[in-house]
Amino acid sequence: MINSLLIANRGEIACRIIRTAREMGIRTVAVYSDADAKALHVREADEAVHIGTSPARESYLIGEKIIAAAKETGAEAIHPGYGFLSENAEFAQAVADAGLVWVGPKPSSITAMGLKDAAKKLMADAGVPVTPGYMGENQDPAFLAEQAAEIGYPVLIKAVAGGGGKGMRKVDAAADFADMLASCQREAAASFSNDHVLIEKYILTPRHIEVQVFGDTHGNVVHLFERDCSLQRRHQKVIEEAPAPGMDEATRAELCAAAVRAAQAVDYVGAGTIEFIADASEGLRADRIWFMEMNTRLQVEHPVTEEITGVDLVEWQLRVASGEPIPLKQDELAINGWAMEARLYAEDPAKGFLPSIGTLELFQLPEHSGRVDTGVYEGAEVSPFYDPMIAKVIAWGEDREEARELLSEMLEDSAIWPVRTNSAFLINALDHPDFVAGTVDTGLIGRDGDAMTEEPAPTAQALTNAAMAMVPRSPQAGFRLNAPDVRTAPFLLNGERVEVELHGPGAEEPAPAMLVAEGGSVWQLAPWRADASAGGAAGDGAILSPMPGKVIAVDVAAGDKVTKGQKLLTLEAMKMEHSLTAPFDGVVAELNASAGAQVQVEALLARIEKEET
Ligand code: ADP
Repeated sequence: MINSLLIANRGEIACRIIRTAREMGIRTVAVYSDADAKALHVREADEAVHIGTSPARESYLIGEKIIAAAKETGAEAIHPGYGFLSENAEFAQAVADAGLVWVGPKPSSITAMGLKDAAKKLMADAGVPVTPGYMGENQDPAFLAEQAAEIGYPVLIKAVAGGGGKGMRKVDAAADFADMLASCQREAAASFSNDHVLIEKYILTPRHIEVQVFGDTHGNVVHLFERDCSLQRRHQKVIEEAPAPGMDEATRAELCAAAVRAAQAVDYVGAGTIEFIADASEGLRADRIWFMEMNTRLQVEHPVTEEITGVDLVEWQLRVASGEPIPLKQDELAINGWAMEARLYAEDPAKGFLPSIGTLELFQLPEHSGRVDTGVYEGAEVSPFYDPMIAKVIAWGEDREEARELLSEMLEDSAIWPVRTNSAFLINALDHPDFVAGTVDTGLIGRDGDAMTEEPAPTAQALTNAAMAMVPRSPQAGFRLNAPDVRTAPFLLNGERVEVELHGPGAEEPAPAMLVAEGGSVWQLAPWRADASAGGAAGDGAILSPMPGKVIAVDVAAGDKVTKGQKLLTLEAMKMEHSLTAPFDGVVAELNASAGAQVQVEALLARIEKEET
């Protein structure tokens, strides 16, 4: 067994790996960038090595620095986590060449599954059903259009080197094909330096079902059943569960056997996932589930598999990397109960899911009887440099409903401030009738997401409770402490005036401003000030750049009238486009942004003023 391990990652997955390594008595070495000097994974590891400045391409993506850190600290093995260098065959080879143990599959397995077209061909040859489509070399646009027509619309154009939901275009009709192909190729060339595409039948009522597989160096391959990751937003997973709702034993047996064949075809060692797409228009049927791709690493959603099988997948990874056989045989593995995971992001659903950064002044995420995998702590910084996922909330139950209710409860009891999170959105998604029924397809959020995104409001009772505790300090209130009657008074809720009902005397311990936490959301309640209400206080309608980035479009001019929610400008940051919108009806009183300008975090881009009524 290896004695020491360097974790070439950060955030929750680095902490997750450290936890198991510690339980196994393995010494851990963390690596970190400037922005992560005080990060949780650095605190939890036995040792930590600084490897560069904050951008990932100057730290977590530099293989040589990571290998040097392992040498310097005497670490014997490197675990890549997910993302970053985890599916980089050259890095895996360099680790081996440096005489270190790579906790992952052989570089040749990574390469075989690296490009979607080659992987699909390999799988078809191994007798694994693949999504119908064209996956050949010919990239002539006219030829590809013919193929699309033959497959039948709608079709999906996919960059063969794509990943993370990027480089895909759904095309509904032949007339749109040429434009969509060109735009997909442009994105693929820019993001993956490879503009080759394949064309697939677009599956209607699609469900994303994947199978966890595991191989060792003794020729064994087992599966650990399936996960359902159909609840997605823009092709990114939001809530995952295991097993898949509506999966019967015969279908499961066929699917899992296909997954094992897929892993065997690439001589697979370690933890891997075979992703399938199912046409669920008539439930889950073995003849309507097709191979999509293989992820040659540990997956974000691996905890739901751990919760229903009782297996610690990181422990298995470390044992297999040390040359041991897989600890259990296929017939020793069984599904016990149901597990669900929600991805908690530092982002603001009300602002188009814009990442939210800053200090976590409040970070409460009770585990109850579930599990929380996180990479942050109260007082930590959420920086703009990395993926905004701050925690995974995982619940297990005897059955699906029990797991769903526990997950909801854990999210409802969370309180995070001032960083915004998607917790209310997750709670709404868990409550959606289709989710409750277990009939989610990947398009659900696209169709019904607006209702889930609605900004929650605190109940009158929660406001009264918070306001009562502030009463003696509220300058406008002027209540007599012994006044028994019910009355209302103005307060500021997140800077907006609200009337709050008060009854009886106020609390002994007054506070100038209070946080109201309810149902997984947090608001700030402050004493009302006349100068901060109508007319728009400074800051109130200030449109600040939420992160460093580039203005790519300005949709309004100074003096324009705007309505609440109207798009003001578009910012490109963290490789994504973000729309900044008007917080309320008003006029553009100030505009400091022009297309093409680079802006710093918190730069005042525009200011909206309420119109006098
Ligand atoms: P990536 O590598 O970018 O994650 P995938 O090939 O895994 O891309 O696909 C991502 C998601 O896109 C899937 O989970 C599914 O929701 C959707 N998708 C992929 N292929 C199809 C298809 N043929 N028909 C319908 N939806 C698809």
